[in-house]
Amino acid sequence: MLRFQEIVNHGPSFTPISTCSKALIAGRYTVQQKLGRGSFGTVYLVKDKKAKDEEQLKVLKETSVGDLKPDETVEANLEALLLSRLDHPAIVKFFTSFVEGESFCIITEYCEGRDLDFNIQEYKEAGKVFPESQIIEWFIQLLLGVNYMHERRILHRDLKAKNIFLKNNFLKIGDFGVSRLLMGSCDLATTFTGTPFYMSPEALQHQGYDTKSDIWSLGCILYEMCCLEHAFTGHNFLSVVLKIVEDDAPSLPDSYPRKLNTVLHSMLSKDPAMRPSAAEILRSSYIDGQLQNMKCKFTNMIKEDQVLNSQKEAAHIITAMQKKVHLQTLRALSEVQKMTPRERMRLRKLNIADEKAKKLKQLAEEKYQENLKRMQELRSRNFHQVNIDVLHESDQPISEHLITSQPVTSLDYLSVGCKKQADSETPGRLCMSDPMEHDLRTLASMKQACSLRSKTSIH
Ligand code: ADP
Ligand code: MG
Repeated sequence: MLRFQEIVNHGPSFTPISTCSKALIAGRYTVQQKLGRGSFGTVYLVKDKKAKDEEQLKVLKETSVGDLKPDETVEANLEALLLSRLDHPAIVKFFTSFVEGESFCIITEYCEGRDLDFNIQEYKEAGKVFPESQIIEWFIQLLLGVNYMHERRILHRDLKAKNIFLKNNFLKIGDFGVSRLLMGSCDLATTFTGTPFYMSPEALQHQGYDTKSDIWSLGCILYEMCCLEHAFTGHNFLSVVLKIVEDDAPSLPDSYPRKLNTVLHSMLSKDPAMRPSAAEILRSSYIDGQLQNMKCKFTNMIKEDQVLNSQKEAAHIITAMQKKVHLQTLRALSEVQKMTPRERMRLRKLNIADEKAKKLKQLAEEKYQENLKRMQELRSRNFHQVNIDVLHESDQPISEHLITSQPVTSLDYLSVGCKKQADSETPGRLCMSDPMEHDLRTLASMKQACSLRSKTSIH
Protein backbone atom coordinates (compact mmCIF):
# COMPACT_ATOMS: atom_id res chain seq x y z
CA MET A 1 0.00 0.00 0.00
CA LEU A 2 1.32 3.35 -1.01
CA ARG A 3 1.84 5.73 1.94
CA PHE A 4 2.68 9.38 1.52
CA GLN A 5 5.50 10.95 3.43
CA GLU A 6 4.15 13.40 6.00
CA ILE A 7 6.11 16.50 6.95
CA VAL A 8 7.72 16.99 10.34
CA ASN A 9 7.73 20.65 11.18
CA HIS A 10 10.81 21.03 13.37
CA GLY A 11 13.04 24.11 13.33
CA PRO A 12 16.77 23.53 12.93
CA SER A 13 17.78 24.64 16.46
CA PHE A 14 14.93 22.89 18.26
CA THR A 15 15.78 20.92 21.42
CA PRO A 16 13.15 18.21 21.77
CA ILE A 17 11.64 17.40 25.14
CA SER A 18 12.99 13.83 24.96
CA THR A 19 16.43 15.19 25.83
CA CYS A 20 15.11 16.13 29.25
CA SER A 21 13.22 12.87 29.76
CA LYS A 22 14.41 12.53 33.36
CA ALA A 23 13.11 15.99 34.28
CA LEU A 24 9.67 16.88 35.51
CA ILE A 25 7.93 18.75 32.69
CA ALA A 26 5.69 21.63 33.81
CA GLY A 27 6.26 20.42 37.34
CA ARG A 28 4.13 17.29 36.92
CA TYR A 29 4.84 15.15 33.80
CA THR A 30 7.62 12.59 33.26
CA VAL A 31 8.26 11.00 29.86
CA GLN A 32 7.67 7.24 29.83
CA GLN A 33 8.29 6.50 26.18
CA LYS A 34 8.16 8.00 22.71
CA LEU A 35 4.94 6.98 20.96
CA GLY A 36 5.82 8.31 17.53
CA ARG A 37 6.25 11.25 15.28
CA GLY A 38 3.40 13.15 13.76
CA SER A 39 3.07 15.86 11.16
CA PHE A 40 3.76 18.59 13.69
CA GLY A 41 6.08 17.10 16.25
CA THR A 42 6.85 14.22 18.55
CA VAL A 43 4.40 12.36 20.72
CA TYR A 44 5.28 10.91 24.13
CA LEU A 45 3.56 8.77 26.71
CA VAL A 46 3.93 10.65 30.01
CA LYS A 47 2.99 10.09 33.62
CA ASP A 48 1.08 12.86 35.38
CA LYS A 49 2.24 12.90 38.98
CA LYS A 50 -0.68 15.11 40.00
CA ALA A 51 -3.42 12.85 38.59
CA LYS A 52 -5.21 9.95 40.28
CA ASP A 53 -3.53 6.55 39.86
CA GLU A 54 -5.78 5.28 37.05
CA GLU A 55 -5.57 8.60 35.18
CA GLN A 56 -1.81 9.11 35.34
CA LEU A 57 -0.92 7.96 31.83
CA LYS A 58 -1.34 10.81 29.37
CA VAL A 59 0.00 11.88 26.00
CA LEU A 60 2.29 14.84 25.47
CA LYS A 61 2.61 16.32 21.99
CA GLU A 62 5.30 18.83 21.37
CA THR A 63 6.25 21.16 18.59
CA SER A 64 8.93 23.82 18.37
CA VAL A 65 7.76 27.24 19.57
CA GLY A 66 10.03 28.70 16.91
CA ASP A 67 7.54 27.42 14.34
CA LEU A 68 4.84 29.63 15.79
CA LYS A 69 4.78 33.43 15.61
CA PRO A 70 4.13 35.20 18.97
CA ASP A 71 0.51 36.08 18.10
CA GLU A 72 0.02 32.55 16.85
CA THR A 73 1.13 31.22 20.24
CA VAL A 74 -1.52 33.37 21.92
CA GLU A 75 -4.11 32.18 19.40
CA ALA A 76 -3.00 28.58 19.90
CA ASN A 77 -3.44 28.99 23.65
CA LEU A 78 -6.92 30.46 23.24
CA GLU A 79 -7.91 27.64 20.96
CA ALA A 80 -6.41 25.16 23.42
CA LEU A 81 -8.66 26.62 26.11
CA LEU A 82 -11.66 26.04 23.87
CA LEU A 83 -10.60 22.44 23.18
CA SER A 84 -10.07 21.76 26.89
CA ARG A 85 -13.76 22.52 27.48
CA LEU A 86 -14.86 19.75 25.11
CA ASP A 87 -16.03 16.65 26.85
CA HIS A 88 -17.35 13.71 24.85
CA PRO A 89 -16.69 9.96 25.08
CA ALA A 90 -15.87 9.77 21.35
CA ILE A 91 -13.29 12.57 21.51
CA VAL A 92 -9.80 12.23 22.94
CA LYS A 93 -9.84 14.48 26.02
CA PHE A 94 -7.66 17.53 25.66
CA PHE A 95 -6.32 18.50 29.08
CA THR A 96 -4.02 21.45 28.72
CA SER A 97 -1.26 23.19 26.77
CA PHE A 98 1.84 25.11 27.83
CA VAL A 99 5.20 26.28 26.65
CA GLU A 100 8.16 24.41 28.11
CA GLY A 101 11.59 25.61 27.04
CA GLU A 102 11.46 25.73 23.28
CA SER A 103 8.44 23.48 23.03
CA PHE A 104 4.75 24.16 22.76
CA CYS A 105 3.19 21.17 24.54
CA ILE A 106 -0.27 19.68 24.53
CA ILE A 107 -1.46 17.11 27.06
CA THR A 108 -4.24 14.72 25.99
CA GLU A 109 -5.88 11.49 27.07
CA TYR A 110 -3.90 8.30 26.35
CA CYS A 111 -5.52 5.64 24.17
CA GLU A 112 -3.79 2.32 24.72
CA GLY A 113 -5.42 0.62 21.70
CA ARG A 114 -3.29 2.61 19.20
CA ASP A 115 -4.79 4.36 16.21
CA LEU A 116 -7.38 3.05 13.76
CA ASP A 117 -4.89 3.09 10.89
CA PHE A 118 -2.59 0.74 12.83
CA ASN A 119 -5.51 -1.58 13.61
CA ILE A 120 -6.68 -1.59 9.98
CA GLN A 121 -3.18 -2.52 8.77
CA GLU A 122 -2.95 -5.24 11.40
CA TYR A 123 -6.29 -6.76 10.37
CA LYS A 124 -5.39 -6.55 6.70
CA GLU A 125 -2.06 -8.27 7.18
CA ALA A 126 -3.76 -11.01 9.21
CA GLY A 127 -6.36 -11.43 6.41
CA LYS A 128 -9.19 -10.55 8.78
CA VAL A 129 -12.10 -8.08 8.46
CA PHE A 130 -13.93 -6.19 11.18
CA PRO A 131 -17.38 -7.65 12.00
CA GLU A 132 -20.20 -5.55 10.53
CA SER A 133 -21.68 -4.87 13.97
CA GLN A 134 -18.32 -3.54 15.13
CA ILE A 135 -18.06 -1.21 12.13
CA ILE A 136 -21.56 0.17 12.73
CA GLU A 137 -20.84 0.76 16.42
CA TRP A 138 -17.61 2.54 15.63
CA PHE A 139 -19.26 4.56 12.88
CA ILE A 140 -22.01 5.71 15.27
CA GLN A 141 -19.42 6.65 17.90
CA LEU A 142 -17.59 8.76 15.30
CA LEU A 143 -20.85 10.39 14.20
CA LEU A 144 -21.67 11.28 17.81
CA GLY A 145 -18.22 12.81 18.30
CA VAL A 146 -18.30 14.77 15.03
CA ASN A 147 -21.84 15.95 15.71
CA TYR A 148 -20.79 17.16 19.16
CA MET A 149 -17.99 19.24 17.62
CA HIS A 150 -20.05 20.56 14.73
CA GLU A 151 -22.82 21.67 17.09
CA ARG A 152 -20.19 23.79 18.78
CA ARG A 153 -19.05 25.08 15.40
CA ILE A 154 -15.66 23.40 15.61
CA LEU A 155 -14.25 21.66 12.57
CA HIS A 156 -11.76 18.81 12.74
CA ARG A 157 -10.06 19.54 9.40
CA ASP A 158 -7.85 16.46 9.53
CA LEU A 159 -10.08 13.46 10.05
CA LYS A 160 -8.21 10.32 9.11
CA ALA A 161 -7.72 6.78 10.43
CA LYS A 162 -4.42 7.89 11.98
CA ASN A 163 -6.22 10.50 14.07
CA ILE A 164 -8.76 8.06 15.47
CA PHE A 165 -7.73 6.09 18.53
CA LEU A 166 -8.90 2.97 20.31
CA LYS A 167 -9.45 2.89 24.03
CA ASN A 168 -11.05 -0.24 25.50
CA ASN A 169 -12.28 -0.95 21.96
CA PHE A 170 -14.14 2.37 21.79
CA LEU A 171 -13.17 4.85 19.11
CA LYS A 172 -12.04 8.33 20.04
CA ILE A 173 -11.37 11.15 17.63
CA GLY A 174 -8.05 12.77 18.32
CA ASP A 175 -6.26 15.87 17.13
CA PHE A 176 -9.48 17.88 17.02
CA GLY A 177 -8.21 21.30 16.12
CA VAL A 178 -4.81 20.30 17.44
CA SER A 179 -3.19 20.25 14.03
CA ARG A 180 -4.44 23.79 13.38
CA LEU A 181 -3.32 24.78 16.84
CA LEU A 182 0.18 23.53 16.17
CA MET A 183 0.29 25.21 12.81
CA GLY A 184 -0.86 28.56 14.11
CA SER A 185 -3.29 30.45 11.94
CA CYS A 186 -2.28 28.85 8.62
CA ASP A 187 -5.06 27.39 6.56
CA LEU A 188 -4.55 23.66 6.67
CA ALA A 189 -6.11 23.07 3.27
CA THR A 190 -3.79 25.49 1.49
CA THR A 191 -0.58 24.45 3.25
CA PHE A 192 -1.35 20.77 3.37
CA THR A 193 1.39 18.45 2.18
CA GLY A 194 0.35 15.29 4.04
CA THR A 195 -2.04 12.55 3.02
CA PRO A 196 -4.72 13.52 0.48
CA PHE A 197 -6.75 10.31 0.95
CA TYR A 198 -9.42 11.86 3.18
CA MET A 199 -9.56 15.31 1.63
CA SER A 200 -12.82 16.48 0.09
CA PRO A 201 -13.03 17.75 -3.51
CA GLU A 202 -13.79 21.30 -2.31
CA ALA A 203 -10.78 21.36 0.06
CA LEU A 204 -8.50 20.09 -2.71
CA GLN A 205 -9.82 22.73 -5.08
CA HIS A 206 -9.41 25.49 -2.46
CA GLN A 207 -13.14 26.12 -2.46
CA GLY A 208 -13.35 26.32 1.31
CA TYR A 209 -13.65 23.91 4.18
CA ASP A 210 -16.73 23.45 6.33
CA THR A 211 -18.55 20.82 8.39
CA LYS A 212 -19.44 18.92 5.21
CA SER A 213 -15.74 18.49 4.41
CA ASP A 214 -15.39 16.65 7.74
CA ILE A 215 -18.38 14.50 6.67
CA TRP A 216 -16.55 13.57 3.45
CA SER A 217 -13.52 12.45 5.48
CA LEU A 218 -15.79 10.44 7.78
CA GLY A 219 -17.24 8.73 4.69
CA CYS A 220 -13.70 7.78 3.62
CA ILE A 221 -13.10 6.32 7.10
CA LEU A 222 -16.35 4.32 6.95
CA TYR A 223 -15.26 2.85 3.62
CA GLU A 224 -11.83 2.03 5.02
CA MET A 225 -13.28 0.25 8.07
CA CYS A 226 -15.37 -1.94 5.73
CA CYS A 227 -12.82 -2.60 2.97
CA LEU A 228 -9.47 -2.05 4.77
CA GLU A 229 -8.50 0.16 1.84
CA HIS A 230 -8.69 3.84 1.10
CA ALA A 231 -11.85 4.97 -0.68
CA PHE A 232 -9.78 6.77 -3.33
CA THR A 233 -6.37 5.35 -4.21
CA GLY A 234 -3.75 6.07 -6.86
CA HIS A 235 -0.09 5.68 -7.75
CA ASN A 236 0.79 9.20 -6.80
CA PHE A 237 -0.58 12.30 -5.11
CA LEU A 238 -2.06 13.70 -8.31
CA SER A 239 -3.85 10.52 -9.33
CA VAL A 240 -5.48 10.31 -5.87
CA VAL A 241 -6.55 13.96 -6.14
CA LEU A 242 -8.00 13.41 -9.61
CA LYS A 243 -10.00 10.42 -8.40
CA ILE A 244 -11.40 12.40 -5.47
CA VAL A 245 -12.40 15.29 -7.71
CA GLU A 246 -13.66 13.34 -10.72
CA ASP A 247 -14.48 9.70 -9.96
CA ASP A 248 -17.75 8.32 -8.67
CA ALA A 249 -17.82 7.28 -5.03
CA PRO A 250 -16.83 3.63 -4.57
CA SER A 251 -19.46 1.14 -3.34
CA LEU A 252 -19.23 -1.23 -0.41
CA PRO A 253 -19.11 -4.98 -1.20
CA ASP A 254 -22.58 -6.58 -1.51
CA SER A 255 -22.10 -8.31 1.84
CA TYR A 256 -22.80 -4.96 3.55
CA PRO A 257 -26.35 -3.63 3.98
CA ARG A 258 -27.55 -1.56 1.04
CA LYS A 259 -28.67 1.17 3.42
CA LEU A 260 -25.15 1.54 4.75
CA ASN A 261 -23.92 1.92 1.19
CA THR A 262 -26.55 4.62 0.61
CA VAL A 263 -25.30 6.48 3.68
CA LEU A 264 -21.72 6.19 2.38
CA HIS A 265 -22.67 7.53 -1.06
CA SER A 266 -24.49 10.49 0.45
CA MET A 267 -21.41 11.34 2.53
CA LEU A 268 -19.23 11.14 -0.58
CA SER A 269 -21.39 13.44 -2.71
CA LYS A 270 -19.13 15.77 -4.66
CA ASP A 271 -21.37 18.71 -3.82
CA PRO A 272 -20.98 19.52 -0.09
CA ALA A 273 -24.56 20.81 0.01
CA MET A 274 -25.79 17.33 -0.94
CA ARG A 275 -23.94 15.69 1.96
CA PRO A 276 -25.94 15.12 5.13
CA SER A 277 -24.79 16.56 8.43
CA ALA A 278 -23.73 14.21 11.25
CA ALA A 279 -27.02 15.00 13.02
CA GLU A 280 -29.02 14.09 9.88
CA ILE A 281 -27.18 10.76 9.51
CA LEU A 282 -27.82 9.97 13.18
CA ARG A 283 -31.51 10.77 12.66
CA SER A 284 -31.85 8.64 9.49
CA SER A 285 -34.05 5.60 10.12
CA TYR A 286 -31.33 3.03 9.36
CA ILE A 287 -28.66 4.55 11.63
CA ASP A 288 -31.21 5.42 14.32
CA GLY A 289 -32.31 1.75 14.36
CA GLN A 290 -28.68 0.65 14.78
CA LEU A 291 -28.23 3.25 17.49
CA GLN A 292 -31.14 1.81 19.48
CA ASN A 293 -29.62 -1.72 19.20
CA MET A 294 -26.32 -0.34 20.38
CA LYS A 295 -27.95 1.35 23.35
CA CYS A 296 -29.57 -1.96 24.43
CA LYS A 297 -26.28 -3.80 24.02
CA PHE A 298 -24.29 -1.29 26.03
CA THR A 299 -26.95 -1.11 28.72
CA ASN A 300 -26.70 -4.90 29.15
CA MET A 301 -22.92 -4.63 29.08
CA ILE A 302 -23.03 -2.28 32.05
CA LYS A 303 -25.32 -4.65 33.94
CA GLU A 304 -23.12 -7.70 33.27
CA ASP A 305 -19.92 -8.19 35.18
CA GLN A 306 -17.35 -7.16 32.62
CA VAL A 307 -14.06 -5.31 32.46
CA LEU A 308 -14.57 -2.14 34.45
CA ASN A 309 -12.97 0.18 31.90
CA SER A 310 -15.15 -0.80 28.94
CA GLN A 311 -18.17 -0.56 31.23
CA LYS A 312 -17.20 3.01 31.93
CA GLU A 313 -16.80 3.80 28.22
CA ALA A 314 -20.14 2.14 27.47
CA ALA A 315 -21.84 4.19 30.17
CA HIS A 316 -20.40 7.39 28.71
CA ILE A 317 -21.43 6.55 25.16
CA ILE A 318 -24.98 5.69 26.30
CA THR A 319 -25.21 9.13 27.87
CA ALA A 320 -24.01 10.64 24.58
CA MET A 321 -26.60 8.58 22.67
CA GLN A 322 -29.39 9.65 25.00
CA LYS A 323 -28.38 13.23 24.43
CA LYS A 324 -28.53 12.59 20.67
CA VAL A 325 -32.14 11.48 21.03
CA HIS A 326 -32.78 14.99 22.30
CA LEU A 327 -30.88 16.64 19.48
CA GLN A 328 -33.45 19.38 19.28
CA THR A 329 -32.94 20.24 22.94
CA LEU A 330 -29.21 19.94 22.56
CA ARG A 331 -29.19 22.26 19.60
CA ALA A 332 -31.17 24.79 21.58
CA LEU A 333 -28.74 24.29 24.44
CA SER A 334 -25.75 24.85 22.21
CA GLU A 335 -27.38 28.04 20.97
CA VAL A 336 -27.65 29.15 24.58
CA GLN A 337 -24.04 28.21 25.20
CA LYS A 338 -22.99 30.48 22.34
CA MET A 339 -24.68 33.47 24.02
CA THR A 340 -22.92 36.13 26.02
CA PRO A 341 -23.73 36.26 29.77
CA ARG A 342 -25.82 39.38 29.12
CA GLU A 343 -27.87 37.63 26.39
CA ARG A 344 -28.28 34.61 28.65
CA MET A 345 -29.55 36.84 31.46
CA ARG A 346 -32.07 38.43 29.05
CA LEU A 347 -33.21 34.98 27.96
CA ARG A 348 -33.63 33.96 31.59
CA LYS A 349 -35.75 37.07 32.26
CA LEU A 350 -37.85 36.40 29.17
CA ASN A 351 -38.43 32.83 30.35
CA ILE A 352 -39.54 34.08 33.77
CA ALA A 353 -41.87 36.59 32.09
CA ASP A 354 -43.22 33.79 29.89
CA GLU A 355 -43.94 31.69 32.97
CA LYS A 356 -45.71 34.60 34.64
CA ALA A 357 -47.74 35.28 31.49
CA LYS A 358 -48.76 31.62 31.39
CA LYS A 359 -49.98 31.75 34.99
CA LEU A 360 -51.76 35.03 34.37
CA LYS A 361 -53.48 33.58 31.33
CA GLN A 362 -54.69 30.64 33.35
CA LEU A 363 -55.93 32.94 36.09
CA ALA A 364 -57.64 35.15 33.50
CA GLU A 365 -59.34 32.10 32.01
CA GLU A 366 -60.70 31.12 35.43
CA LYS A 367 -61.86 34.67 36.05
CA TYR A 368 -63.55 34.74 32.65
CA GLN A 369 -65.59 31.67 33.49
CA GLU A 370 -66.45 33.14 36.85
CA ASN A 371 -67.35 36.43 35.23
CA LEU A 372 -69.45 34.76 32.59
CA LYS A 373 -71.48 33.10 35.28
CA ARG A 374 -71.81 36.40 37.09
CA MET A 375 -72.84 38.13 33.85
CA GLN A 376 -75.55 35.57 33.24
CA GLU A 377 -76.89 36.08 36.73
CA LEU A 378 -76.64 39.81 36.26
CA ARG A 379 -78.38 39.66 32.93
CA SER A 380 -81.32 37.71 34.26
CA ARG A 381 -81.51 40.05 37.26
CA ASN A 382 -81.34 43.14 35.03
CA PHE A 383 -83.82 41.70 32.60
CA HIS A 384 -86.10 41.65 35.57
CA GLN A 385 -85.06 45.22 36.38
CA VAL A 386 -85.70 46.28 32.78
CA ASN A 387 -89.18 44.94 33.01
CA ILE A 388 -89.69 47.00 36.15
CA ASP A 389 -88.12 50.02 34.35
CA VAL A 390 -90.38 49.46 31.43
CA LEU A 391 -93.33 49.30 33.67
CA HIS A 392 -92.19 52.51 35.38
CA GLU A 393 -91.06 54.03 32.03
CA SER A 394 -87.92 55.23 33.79
CA ASP A 395 -85.17 57.07 31.82
CA GLN A 396 -82.46 56.47 34.42
CA PRO A 397 -79.30 55.11 32.73
CA ILE A 398 -78.81 51.42 33.42
CA SER A 399 -75.05 51.45 33.07
CA GLU A 400 -74.56 53.26 36.34
CA HIS A 401 -76.64 50.80 38.18
CA LEU A 402 -74.93 47.85 36.50
CA ILE A 403 -71.41 48.97 37.23
CA THR A 404 -72.06 49.83 40.83
CA SER A 405 -74.19 46.80 41.57
CA GLN A 406 -71.44 44.34 40.60
CA PRO A 407 -67.83 45.39 41.09
CA VAL A 408 -65.66 44.08 38.26
CA THR A 409 -61.89 44.08 38.62
CA SER A 410 -59.54 45.15 35.85
CA LEU A 411 -58.58 41.48 35.41
CA ASP A 412 -62.24 40.64 34.93
CA TYR A 413 -62.47 43.26 32.22
CA LEU A 414 -59.31 42.07 30.62
CA SER A 415 -60.27 38.47 30.52
CA VAL A 416 -63.82 38.94 29.46
CA GLY A 417 -63.00 41.68 27.02
CA CYS A 418 -60.25 39.80 25.29
CA LYS A 419 -62.27 36.68 24.97
CA LYS A 420 -65.23 38.55 23.59
CA GLN A 421 -63.02 40.38 21.19
CA ALA A 422 -61.74 37.10 19.85
CA ASP A 423 -65.22 35.69 19.65
CA SER A 424 -66.82 38.64 17.92
CA GLU A 425 -63.77 39.18 15.68
CA THR A 426 -63.77 42.94 16.14
CA PRO A 427 -60.08 43.75 16.33
CA GLY A 428 -58.89 47.21 17.25
CA ARG A 429 -61.47 47.74 19.95
CA LEU A 430 -60.49 48.26 23.54
CA CYS A 431 -60.78 45.01 25.43
CA MET A 432 -61.59 46.74 28.70
CA SER A 433 -64.74 48.56 27.59
CA ASP A 434 -66.06 45.88 25.33
CA PRO A 435 -67.85 43.37 27.57
CA MET A 436 -69.92 45.79 29.52
CA GLU A 437 -70.64 47.87 26.48
CA HIS A 438 -71.88 44.78 24.73
CA ASP A 439 -74.16 43.78 27.54
CA LEU A 440 -75.39 47.29 28.09
CA ARG A 441 -76.17 47.66 24.44
CA THR A 442 -78.09 44.39 24.55
CA LEU A 443 -79.99 45.56 27.57
CA ALA A 444 -80.65 49.00 26.08
CA SER A 445 -82.05 47.49 22.90
CA MET A 446 -84.09 45.08 24.96
CA LYS A 447 -85.43 48.03 26.95
CA GLN A 448 -86.21 49.88 23.74
CA ALA A 449 -87.97 46.87 22.31
CA CYS A 450 -89.95 46.37 25.47
CA SER A 451 -90.92 50.03 25.71
CA LEU A 452 -91.90 50.00 22.03
CA ARG A 453 -93.95 46.89 22.61
CA SER A 454 -95.55 48.43 25.69
CA LYS A 455 -96.20 51.71 23.83
CA THR A 456 -97.72 49.75 20.95
CA SER A 457 -99.89 47.88 23.35
CA ILE A 458 -100.98 51.14 25.02
CA HIS A 459 -102.01 52.63 21.74
P1 ADP B 1 -0.27 12.73 12.97
O1 ADP B 1 0.36 14.05 12.87
O2 ADP B 1 0.06 11.82 11.85
O3 ADP B 1 -1.74 12.88 13.19
P2 ADP B 1 0.12 12.31 15.74
O4 ADP B 1 0.99 13.42 16.13
O5 ADP B 1 -1.32 12.45 16.02
O6 ADP B 1 0.33 11.99 14.22
O7 ADP B 1 0.60 10.96 16.42
C1 ADP B 1 1.88 10.44 16.28
C2 ADP B 1 1.92 9.08 16.95
O8 ADP B 1 1.48 9.15 18.31
C3 ADP B 1 1.07 8.04 16.27
O9 ADP B 1 1.75 6.83 16.27
C4 ADP B 1 -0.15 7.95 17.16
O10 ADP B 1 -0.70 6.66 17.10
C5 ADP B 1 0.40 8.28 18.54
N1 ADP B 1 -0.60 8.97 19.33
C6 ADP B 1 -1.03 10.24 19.12
N2 ADP B 1 -1.98 10.57 20.02
C7 ADP B 1 -2.16 9.50 20.81
C8 ADP B 1 -3.02 9.20 21.93
N3 ADP B 1 -3.87 10.10 22.41
N4 ADP B 1 -2.95 7.98 22.50
C9 ADP B 1 -2.09 7.07 22.01
N5 ADP B 1 -1.26 7.27 20.98
C10 ADP B 1 -1.28 8.47 20.37
MG1 MG C 1 -2.61 12.85 14.66
